[in-house]
Amino acid sequence: MAGTAVALDLKGALKDAVNNQLGGSSNEQAATTNPENASAQDKLANINWKNPSQEDEIAVGRNVTGTILGAAPLVNDAKLQAYVNKVGRWVASQSERTSLPWHFGVIDSTDVNAFAAPGGYVLITKGLYQRLTSEAQLAGVLGHEIVHVVQRHHLKVMQKQALMDAGTSFLKEKISKNKITQRAVTTGAEISARNLDKSAEYEADSMGTVLAARAGYDAYGLAEVLQDMELLGSNDGSVALLFQTHPHPDDRVAQLSLVSGDQIDKISGGKTLENRLYKLK
Ligand SMILES: [Zn+2]
Repeated sequence: MAGTAVALDLKGALKDAVNNQLGGSSNEQAATTNPENASAQDKLANINWKNPSQEDEIAVGRNVTGTILGAAPLVNDAKLQAYVNKVGRWVASQSERTSLPWHFGVIDSTDVNAFAAPGGYVLITKGLYQRLTSEAQLAGVLGHEIVHVVQRHHLKVMQKQALMDAGTSFLKEKISKNKITQRAVTTGAEISARNLDKSAEYEADSMGTVLAARAGYDAYGLAEVLQDMELLGSNDGSVALLFQTHPHPDDRVAQLSLVSGDQIDKISGGKTLENRLYKLK
């Protein structure tokens, strides 16, 4: 049940983003006529980019997520969305940011990829979901994205952009606070689909694996998925973007065993749960 509400909530995020993209004057008009929209706008315009609060982080993440959902909507299967939320929230509960309102979703795209946005938003594509063969693999993939959120990897890049814009606007004509935030949100959506630095990706792999293992899953879930991608190869169109945005799966597996090999061995006896993986219709 909670999962269905979460899926609907993601649609709310999409609505916010669409409203934001209406732009300048019509936006203000919409803001005055729709109180719900007005508060979302206020939140975005008042983000403290120097030192964002958790509430700021969530407001930003909702907008980045809305932008992604604008390009690829959620798969219309409430049971699937509820299931992915259940697994994702359980893995996230092993992290140090349990106070975030975590949201997980499967989006309707044949690409093989996954995305994270600040504040606890995690999306994986149907193309990737369909390749998974166990719940432990799903937990590993979600664990990787959860770490991007926990470590504020995307938020930090967006902060840099916003503070740079603020600095520029000080020298030239004043860019409005709203504009600065909108540009940062665009950057956030772009980097979700583009690049974080390699060290952030390796950190997400190793810490994500530890989270999944702590949650009771077989610790090789993520490594198995990476090996599967390696087999697909960079020439397969569905993984082209993933290969561009992440270090080569080969290097990721090597790095993973280097960094967390010891830890993984210590947390042995986790479950793979092949049969519990929800099958898509
Ligand atoms: Zn990543």
